[in-house]
Amino acid sequence: MNEIAQINGPVWRSDDEGYRAEVGGYQLAHPHRPDVVVGATSPQDVARAVRHAADRGLPVAVQTSGHGRGTPLEGGVLISTRRMAGVRVDPVARTARVEAGTRWTQVAEAAAAHGLAPLSGSSPAVGAVGYTLGGGIGVLARTFGWASDRVRSVDLVTADGQQRHVTAAADPELFRVLRGAGAGLGVVTAMEVGLVPVGRLFGGALLVDGPHVPALLDAYREWTADLSHDVTSSITMLPFPDVAAVPDHLRGRYAAKVHIACTGSVAEGERLVAPLRAAVPLLADTLGELPYTAAGTIFDDPTEPHAYTGTNAMLHALDPAVLHAALDVAGPDAPVMCVLGLRHLGGALARPPAVPDAVAHRDAAYLLSVLSLVDGTEVPGRLHGELMQRVAPWTAGDTPNFRFGAQAARDRPLDVPGRAALVAELDPKGLFLP
Ligand SMILES: Cc1cc2nc3c(=O)[nH]c(=O)nc-3n(C[C@H](O)[C@H](O)[C@H](O)COP(=O)(O)OP(=O)(O)OC[C@H]3O[C@@H](n4cnc5c(N)ncnc54)[C@H](O)[C@@H]3O)c2cc1C
Repeated sequence: MNEIAQINGPVWRSDDEGYRAEVGGYQLAHPHRPDVVVGATSPQDVARAVRHAADRGLPVAVQTSGHGRGTPLEGGVLISTRRMAGVRVDPVARTARVEAGTRWTQVAEAAAAHGLAPLSGSSPAVGAVGYTLGGGIGVLARTFGWASDRVRSVDLVTADGQQRHVTAAADPELFRVLRGAGAGLGVVTAMEVGLVPVGRLFGGALLVDGPHVPALLDAYREWTADLSHDVTSSITMLPFPDVAAVPDHLRGRYAAKVHIACTGSVAEGERLVAPLRAAVPLLADTLGELPYTAAGTIFDDPTEPHAYTGTNAMLHALDPAVLHAALDVAGPDAPVMCVLGLRHLGGALARPPAVPDAVAHRDAAYLLSVLSLVDGTEVPGRLHGELMQRVAPWTAGDTPNFRFGAQAARDRPLDVPGRAALVAELDPKGLFLP
């Protein structure tokens, strides 16, 4: 049967107009080069695209926003989910049913109408499903835990082209692995996720000039050692480029940005943040009360597509040697621009989930990440590798959401118990790219 002819959404071949626009996304490195792109509009479209590929032994990849694209597809079928962007909030159950192509900004807007918020991350433009399949460390992660922990059900099209409603009761093993190590098991057409009762929060950023960054890191280590679970925070360190798009006070400087989100009252937030605020001179301080729908301003992640590569280490402790290694290898004197990230974990992230899932290294205390622009040389990969080696004595492992570009590729499969057996059972011919 010609499954492609039955698809309701648009379909492109490689020389069709619109092909490039559909294949592109936020990550410009390693673009997919499929023979066919299916702009799916329904689970039925997804199932038809999968059956088309399965009948011909063609590889399949899925793309929503392109923020997390790893292994590029050469030939085969790309299923673009961005037209499946419905959100339905159940304010009583405090859940949202999000379709495959939904970005966090849409979920946050829909939830806010009921005084609720999703466990979204730094960038509202990231896809809710892709993020949640990889665990999901959110803006409020220390208060509410991993996004994967709060998934109630997953609608999945598997390699045989069948649609399954996956729940803890019906399919416990698949439900477990989908939540935390879920990429590459099929195409998720929708998910039901838990929401939290947050309408407003106290948050923003503190900006610190380069010369004070080592002192900031020492202060951060002390401040976070016994910090309330109401506060989720992280630091990004980078040389801000000398271009007009960068605000004057940052342009051309090496600087650190501390991102803070506090779920308590403004007064509690002010009190909890006071020691850090006083530790070093600040270039800017944007902390204040904001609606959750504005949480993306805390990180202010870039929105323009670019080509990047990156990796991460989940650390069981923040030894001063880790901070020293980070700045030494990937700090202001690095031969290529490195964006260093340090996220404080713990709190609710360390709690076991109500229903078992595949989130690894739950007891890690911090997440160190490094990201660079792809420049056609080996230098970024070499530096990232050197940093990971220097921090290896404190590293428990890594987390899939913070592997970017070549680092996310198939040659580093997720080492999650039971995952390989599930892949062998559900996708014996290896149709799906991770
Ligand atoms: C600027 C930026 C900020 C980020 N901030 C955070 C953060 O704060 N916390 C955090 O945890 N992560 C964060 N991430 C990582 C992000 O969650 C992952 O990159 C995630 O995979 C992106 O999902 P996507 O669908 O938007 O991207 P895509 O590139 O479209 O998809 C990435 C991968 O997810 C899988 N996938 C996506 N949709 C489906 C589907 N429907 N069915 C099956 N598989 C699917 C596929 O394997 C696909 O290759 C950030 C990434 C960037 C670039």
